[in-house]
Parts: sequence; C-alpha cells; structure tokens
Amino acid sequence: MQRTKIKEILQSDKCDYQVNVKGWVRSFRNNQFIALNDGSCMGNLQVVIGLDADEQLIKGINNGVSISVDGMVIASQGKGQKVEIKADAVTILGECDPEKFPLQLKNRPSLEYLREIAHLRFRTNTFGAVFRVRHTLAYAIHKFFNDRGFVYLHTPIVTASDAEGAGEMFRVSTLPFDNPPRNEDGTINFKEDFFGRATNLTVSGQLEAELGAMAFSEVYTFGPTFRAENSNTARHLAEFWMIEPEVAFNDIYDNMDLAEDLLKFVISYALEHNREDLDFLATRLADEEKQKPMNERSEMGLIEKLEFVLNNKFERITYTEAIDILLDSTAYKKKKFQYDVKWGIDMQSEHERYLVEKHFKKPVIVTGYPKEIKAFYMRQNDDGKTVAAMDILAPGIGEIVGGSQREERLDKLTQRMEEMHIPTEEMYWYLDTRRFGGVPHAGFGLGFERMVLFVTGMTNIRDVIPFPRTPKNAEF
Ligand code: ATP
Ligand code: MN
Repeated sequence: MQRTKIKEILQSDKCDYQVNVKGWVRSFRNNQFIALNDGSCMGNLQVVIGLDADEQLIKGINNGVSISVDGMVIASQGKGQKVEIKADAVTILGECDPEKFPLQLKNRPSLEYLREIAHLRFRTNTFGAVFRVRHTLAYAIHKFFNDRGFVYLHTPIVTASDAEGAGEMFRVSTLPFDNPPRNEDGTINFKEDFFGRATNLTVSGQLEAELGAMAFSEVYTFGPTFRAENSNTARHLAEFWMIEPEVAFNDIYDNMDLAEDLLKFVISYALEHNREDLDFLATRLADEEKQKPMNERSEMGLIEKLEFVLNNKFERITYTEAIDILLDSTAYKKKKFQYDVKWGIDMQSEHERYLVEKHFKKPVIVTGYPKEIKAFYMRQNDDGKTVAAMDILAPGIGEIVGGSQREERLDKLTQRMEEMHIPTEEMYWYLDTRRFGGVPHAGFGLGFERMVLFVTGMTNIRDVIPFPRTPKNAEF
C-alpha cells in the first residue's frame, strides 16, 4: 500500500479508511499508544496497538525507532486529536537503542546541547518547526521574485575578485600547504594554482548580479556566502545564505520599497502556510521570555510581532537623523552605550537595537551613511560626504538588509576605487558595465538566516541553519 503523509491524515476529518504510514516514534505509552511523526507537520499521529500485540514488537518500540504501520483511520476516542490509527500491522524499520539514543537521554534538552547533536536535532519539535519555516521562507523568496519577473542568476561561489572582503575571505587553493611554489621574491606563486590565480570563496554575489541586471533589468541571487570574519556573535556565521536582488533603473527609494515588500511578503507567506509551526515557536518563545527579568521581556509575542511588522510602514530616516536620536537619548546621556556615538561612526549593534527596539519600536530603514564606512560601489550623494546606502534594522536582530543605489558614473566610481586602493584594471569587467550602456541601478543583500531568526523568534543564528559553520566549528 502506498504511504500516506501524516499531515494529510491529520488535516482531514475523514474516517474509516485503510492507510499505510511510516515515521519515527516520538513516544510510546501504556504499551498501546504510539505518537508517530514523519516530519510532514508538527503534529504526531496517534497509532493504537491492539492489546494482543506481539511481545517482541512491543519491546522494540521506543522513542526514535522508525516504523511502518498499516491500519484503519478512525475517529479518536481520546482528547487532543480528531483521528487516530487502529493498527493492523506494525513493522520496525530501524531499531533505536533507548540506552544510547542522545535525544532519549535528556528530558528537555537545551538548545546548546542540541547544537552538539545537530545531526539528530531535526527530530525535535523546535527544529522541525524551524526548518519547515526555513523551507517556506526560501520558497516564498523565489515566489516573490518569480511573480515579479526577476531572473534567478547563479553567481559564482569561487571568485578571484577580492574587492569587498579585504582579509575576510577563505582562500580556495590546491597548492601544497607544506611546500607551495614561490616567486623569486619569496611570495607564493598563484600562477601555479588550480585557476592560475589566487581565488576565494565569495563574500557576495552582488558584483556579478550587477552584470546580469544590465541585460535582464531585474535579477536576484540566492546562494551561499562565506566570511572568514572572527565574529563569534549570535548573528554571524562563516557560511550563510544571502538573497541579492539587483535592479536596473531603480533608485534608492525604489530599492527601499522592494526590500520592504519582500520582507512583508515572505512574512505573510509563512504566517499563512506555517501557522502551526509558528504557533509552536511563539509558545516556545513566550516560555523563554518568562525566564527573563520583567524589564527585559519583549512587549509582543512572536505572532503579534510579525503581524505588527506587516501592518506598519517601516520607519525611514537618514544616518544623520539616527545619530541625532542616539545623541539625544537618555541611554547616551546616562552612558549606557558601550561604544561612543558621533557622526561618522559605524553604528554598533547596541545603537541599531536602540533605534528599532526602544525608539521607533518597528523596523527602520537608515539611508545616507558616511562614505568612509561604506563600500566603493555605493552612489555618492551631492553633499560629498554621504552615499546612497540603506540598511534595514529589525527588532531583536539589528541589520537584516544592507544595500544601496550603485555608482553608475564611471569617473566617480574609478575615483573612489583609486582612493580605496581597489585595482581598477583587474576589475575591468565590472567597470565595463559603466562603459557600455550603463544605467542607474540599485540592489541589496538580505541575510537569509537573519530573516529566519526574525520569523521564528529564535535567538541564536546557529539554530536556524542545519549545520552551522562558525570559528573553530565545522562538525557534521
Ligand atoms: P554586520 O554589520 O551585521 O556584520 P554587514 O554590514 O557585514 O553586516 P553586509 O555585507 O551588508 O553585512 O551583508 C548583507 C547582509 O548579509 C546583512 O545585512 C546581514 O543580513 C547578512 N550578513 C552579513 N554578514 C553575515 C554573517 N557573518 N552571518 C550571517 N549573515 C550575515
Ligand atoms: Mn559584517
């Protein structure tokens, strides 16, 4: 008999039909009631075994065991579920020794413990919910862009351009570490390397996406990104996924609208399609909040927060206004900030979070950053001091999107590259877009895991990517 997914059975009230289900046992009570989960949804299916069942079989059914069940879907006698399965035949597919099963050994395993057994943590309610939501968000992102006629462009993962990362890149090489070929001056001779030059893992697909935008008008990338930055925070990974739309003819205001629309669309898509998972995560978060002192608790629950974001326009302010707000704050006056505030600083996470969580209490788009703290390709404003950059700051996260209108004027661009010691010859292909039919254009990068953090209410980025890569950690 063909397998039916548990989600399908639980979603309908239909009774009195034969099915086959397969999955993993979540619990087994009174030698009679199995809670079975196949990952298709949060809920478990109750499987009822006859009292006359084989003793060997009963012994073998433990938390973690995988089984196949043939039986009849019937209206449930018990509370908590509409339907259940009266089993005719149960077969154990894979045993699971309860004495050794790491998920069995701890009653309420902590997120930290589960990180150490990330190969098994998918089988918990929390991570089941997180990764189903992650899937939905990825799908919603593709849907958003597809519906608007964007072309999904696959930009390279191995790149030779080191324009952005400056020391934050992972080298890709097949040269022998112990005895690399050297030039006469003792430096390593990358001409002998696999690609005939020094190469790295990409830190962003933007520069290549810009090339695509100059032909398709609207493109986006959605791929893995690598940063060898040694920031051991709850918001940084060494390997993360980024969404980077790039749009010809857009200015900074169109860019803000696009980013706001994208965030709102994917949030509403998840609320619509993963409500059960999000309700579970909301309860989990509420429990976690109860552990905190009163004044640190957030005012809104997860669902309320998501709905609030959907129903309110993001605040839009300039960097200069942001600095003024910070300087005017009691937090600043009472010296509560660890880092100094003055015009020209690269705002720290504490400043960003003050703006979104304390001052505006909603997502904020900050534009017009000092050019000194931003990348060479951002369009220079007429004041000579700032660039048409935009960061979106989200409650609980800080920066979730970083983008800009790009500098389309060749002379301004090359001048800025020279000032910042970026090799213009090597980057001829990038500059060619400005030489051959260049147009004003804009784009941004949305950190996918930061988006997943925001929607799931999880607090550590290591818990929203299946197998996190962070400094000193690449297990599994
Ligand atoms: P931050 O200041 O938080 O380090 P950034 O300014 O380095 O971010 P960008 O280079 O603008 O970030 O990258 C675009 C987006 O990618 C960011 O807005 C963020 O959502 C995400 N991002 C950047 N670095 C990381 C990282 N190490 N891990 C996960 N997401 C990241
Ligand atoms: Mn960074």
